[in-house]
Amino acid sequence: MADLKETAMDQRKRTVLIVEDNDMNREILYEILADDYHVLQAENGLEGLKQLEEHYGEISLVLLDVYMPELDGFGFLERKQGDSRYDTIPVIMMTASNEIDDEIRCLELGANDFVTKPYNVRVLKNRMRSVIRLRENSAMLGKLELDSLTGLYSKEFFYIYLRDRLRDEPEKSYDLVCSDVENFRALNDRWGQAKCDRFLQEVAERVQKKLDGLVLAGRISADVFAFLVEHRGLDWNAVLPQPEREGQPALYTVKYGVYEDVDHSLPASAICDRATLPLGQVKRKFHKDVALYDEEMRKMQLLEHDIIDNMESSLKNREFQIYYQPKHDLRTDRTGGAEALVRWTHPQLGFIRPDLFIPLFERNGFVTQLDFYIWEEVCQELKRLRELGMPQIPVSINVSRMDFEVPDLAGQIRGLADRYGIPHGLLHIELTESMYSDNPEQIAMTLEALHEDGFIIELDDFGAGYSSLTSLNTLRLDVMKLDMSMIRHATATKDYSILRFAALLADGMRMKTVVEGVETEEQVAALKVLGCDYIQGYYYSRPIPARDFEEYLVQHG
Ligand code: C2E
Ligand code: CA
Ligand code: CA
Repeated sequence: MADLKETAMDQRKRTVLIVEDNDMNREILYEILADDYHVLQAENGLEGLKQLEEHYGEISLVLLDVYMPELDGFGFLERKQGDSRYDTIPVIMMTASNEIDDEIRCLELGANDFVTKPYNVRVLKNRMRSVIRLRENSAMLGKLELDSLTGLYSKEFFYIYLRDRLRDEPEKSYDLVCSDVENFRALNDRWGQAKCDRFLQEVAERVQKKLDGLVLAGRISADVFAFLVEHRGLDWNAVLPQPEREGQPALYTVKYGVYEDVDHSLPASAICDRATLPLGQVKRKFHKDVALYDEEMRKMQLLEHDIIDNMESSLKNREFQIYYQPKHDLRTDRTGGAEALVRWTHPQLGFIRPDLFIPLFERNGFVTQLDFYIWEEVCQELKRLRELGMPQIPVSINVSRMDFEVPDLAGQIRGLADRYGIPHGLLHIELTESMYSDNPEQIAMTLEALHEDGFIIELDDFGAGYSSLTSLNTLRLDVMKLDMSMIRHATATKDYSILRFAALLADGMRMKTVVEGVETEEQVAALKVLGCDYIQGYYYSRPIPARDFEEYLVQHG
């Protein structure tokens, strides 16, 4: 016989779930299996699904009876098949002998094997072992247990051992630390692979040496390592090491995210996600290398999930509304325009601020669908106001950089305006400056076309700290919107020189100016002196619903 070395993988105690309504049968199975397996039990299909939902990350196999009250084995298989989280968990059916029709139906529903009652213990154990092994081998095909560079566990195996440990030591408290090398890509380009590899080895070694109570260490991705540590109230800033800098500036910093006192019931990947989540807070921050996962972040994460789960139905159900915020024309002392701003009140989630959901939608692409909806609603509103004989004032719509990915965006906006008979000059395009773009030429061309068609282009958030000057040079722009931070800074320091400079710059480029976030009379007075054109801010009005805006126009239009 081949002398195979038992690996940690062979020795690990798997978890099986028994779903069987007969108490006696369950008892017998438990007795047979308890030495070799962790055994979870359920008395019917519904109970079984509940256990699956709670423990799917750790269950290696389900032993399933066919006939049970509440939900039978067929029903259980059907529901299991409908949920991709359970795809990798095999099922062995426990049938009475000679029920060939049942067996066929179970196979069709995805069962992997059978044992017939009454059980032959050796047959049962062998079938279980081979079904589990088959599934694990195919899942782990080509995956190594140890990462060859650092000697840490590979991600897949780290996850398995992490789950085992949390299951086996339910009363113990652990922390998970994730390390992430700042600017890893740049380092790779600069140093080449060999030096980078050595650097990663060194990082892995140092952290392992420094962490008292280290239980497991794994390599999660190229430059992200995870360390499971017994919870000892460590002072992370003091223990988590930085590489030797040898007098060089901190080009290669290691950032750490820590999830303390991990929740034993979570899947391993979710535990690692929680440790990596705070990394965003210390990214590119000098002198701050460690961040902890906290309740606030968890709430944010849950909210983000809620937002994504609900965005499409909310759009369909018209739960997004448009508010209008007037822009006051300092020359005429009347309303010279308005900005359309989206508002979202969800029946269950309540009011959600745009600065929470817009950045998310910009990342997942949904912003474009939402924006098209908003633009159409604005056109309808402009048409309605015209039909009411109200003064015709321009309305700005927000256009995210992401929206420029839409083929022929200019043509689409033109088509929309024409469909509602809106003169192009009444639709202003506010270009959000805050996002990095992969395709500056496309944006430049689209803006050029829109400008040619008579639409007015406004550069939003000028001075908010992005590459605004480049945009001024390369894009066709008609209006500069000075970011709220500028008036705030001027008021706080009583120094208007930056605002004055911005106004001069706009004038030199033949652009009009809108100052955002103006809240007081003193600010208005100062801006008049500077020769700004429009003011948008709470001093005149907050963003208000369409009907209130109509009223506002009657008085100030
Ligand atoms: P933004 O385009 O810079 O919009 C101006 C924000 O400043 C609005 O916040 C407005 O309510 C707020 N604001 C106006 N005057 C004052 C003031 O005097 N004081 C203070 N403290 N705040 C003032 P809001 O509506 O929460 O929007 C936040 C951001 O969300 C917007 O910034 C914009 O980037 C984005 N956004 C809003 N609606 C849309 C939309 O329909 N599409 C897209 N793509 N983005 C949108
Ligand atoms: Ca805007
Ligand atoms: Ca703005």
